[in-house]
Amino acid sequence: MRFSFRVMFSMRAIVLGAGVVGVGTAYALARRGADVLVIDRQPAPALETSFANGGQISACHVTPWATPNTPHQLAKWFGRPDAPLYLPFWKPDLDLWRWGILFLANTSMTRSCRNMERALRVALHSRNTIKAWRAETGLHYDERTCGILNFYRDPREFEAACRANAAMNAHGLDRTVKTPDECIALEPALEHARKRIIGGIYSPSDESGDAMMFAQGLAKEAEKLGVRFRFDTSVAGLEAAGKTLKAVVLEGGERLTCDAAVVCLGSFSGKLTKSVGFGLPIYPAKGYSITVSTEGRSGAPTVSLIDDENKMVFSRLGERLRAAGTAELNGWSDAIDQRRADVILAKTRDLFPEAADYAEPNFWAGLRPSTPDSAPIIGATPVSGLWLNTGHGTLGWTMAAGSGDVIADCVTGETPAIDIDGLGMDRFGR
Ligand SMILES: Cc1cc2nc3c(=O)[nH]c(=O)nc-3n(C[C@H](O)[C@H](O)[C@H](O)COP(=O)(O)OP(=O)(O)OC[C@H]3O[C@@H](n4cnc5c(N)ncnc54)[C@H](O)[C@@H]3O)c2cc1C
Repeated sequence: MRFSFRVMFSMRAIVLGAGVVGVGTAYALARRGADVLVIDRQPAPALETSFANGGQISACHVTPWATPNTPHQLAKWFGRPDAPLYLPFWKPDLDLWRWGILFLANTSMTRSCRNMERALRVALHSRNTIKAWRAETGLHYDERTCGILNFYRDPREFEAACRANAAMNAHGLDRTVKTPDECIALEPALEHARKRIIGGIYSPSDESGDAMMFAQGLAKEAEKLGVRFRFDTSVAGLEAAGKTLKAVVLEGGERLTCDAAVVCLGSFSGKLTKSVGFGLPIYPAKGYSITVSTEGRSGAPTVSLIDDENKMVFSRLGERLRAAGTAELNGWSDAIDQRRADVILAKTRDLFPEAADYAEPNFWAGLRPSTPDSAPIIGATPVSGLWLNTGHGTLGWTMAAGSGDVIADCVTGETPAIDIDGLGMDRFGR
């Protein structure tokens, strides 16, 4: 892997979006000597989906949402108010229907394995890249490097996970199956749930940390390399002449020219690319998190956890416990449905009753930019000079550093550190 600072002729690049993916992209471009401007409608980096996510850097958990087991899970959750997935397929929403058809087409074993391999390529590269960036910047973001433990209550889910585990081990992932006693030895905070846990899978090389702290810290490092940020600025559209990008158009009409623009707008990426003639199969999957203080308490987990049955994750971030989960495919609003947020709170309190002060939780909701095959979209577009680094779904924090590094290589004409075959928008056809 190359982490040297390369000086090139001063390419003028505009990064659209200052979430964790946009900031990673800007930093990677600046390391290569590009002259970078980042634009975001918020007043600071990482105030939308990268703000309060589950905190897991989980390269060993890149299983796509669409698997052969998914139809069974959807049937199990149908109509349940506390279901981890809310899918209002009866809504007259063409974007959702199109996305849903592509999603169902990805549930075969063959496609699911192929999609996992694609996401894994990015996630593993990202894990190495974030370590390298951490070493070169000295950044801290309440990071923990003691792995992720996935625990199970449902025998059928556990069996399916053990089968998938064998496939993941074949990809070189260090994931080991654990007995209930071994799970509790690894994370004593699970003692309260001992009777319900039937087994687990532990991946010691996975990490966790606060994505917002990371993005804001990395933005400062990027500024030291000359990156400029324009906040409180909305991008209204793109302008192309023929098949070449001419300008980024801001709300109010200002036109910015550049040699390259990279779209890192999360769930809003496709809305922007429509202005130059193509959409993207990215649909927002709204998720919720709660953050509670663990100050003065004992019993909060230190190993990052995944509760498979409830599709929830838990990360210890300094003196805070973050719990996140649920997916609502219900449009672009990030408004909090308090009933669903309360489910996260109740399930966290049920697992770790003494671990935190549950009286004043911080509730949050964000829109995962989800593709039907759970792999991000990284690479060129039909418009020369316009690039994509978006659609990271449930794993944007996991993949941000690596996909930033890869797209920076693409934009500056270098050979990316990983094979990018199957990661571009062309995999979805027209
Ligand atoms: C509940 C929940 C839990 C999660 N847990 C994890 C986890 O544990 N691990 C993990 O890896 N991932 C997790 N994720 C996913 C991860 O948070 C996302 O994939 C990631 O934050 C996406 O980053 P992004 O930079 O692409 O998007 P964003 O963070 O949304 O950034 C996009 C930026 O574009 C800006 N923008 C949009 N439109 C415009 C416009 N027109 N003009 C100007 N600016 C614009 C926005 O202001 C925003 O700052 C979770 C997500 C959720 C919701």
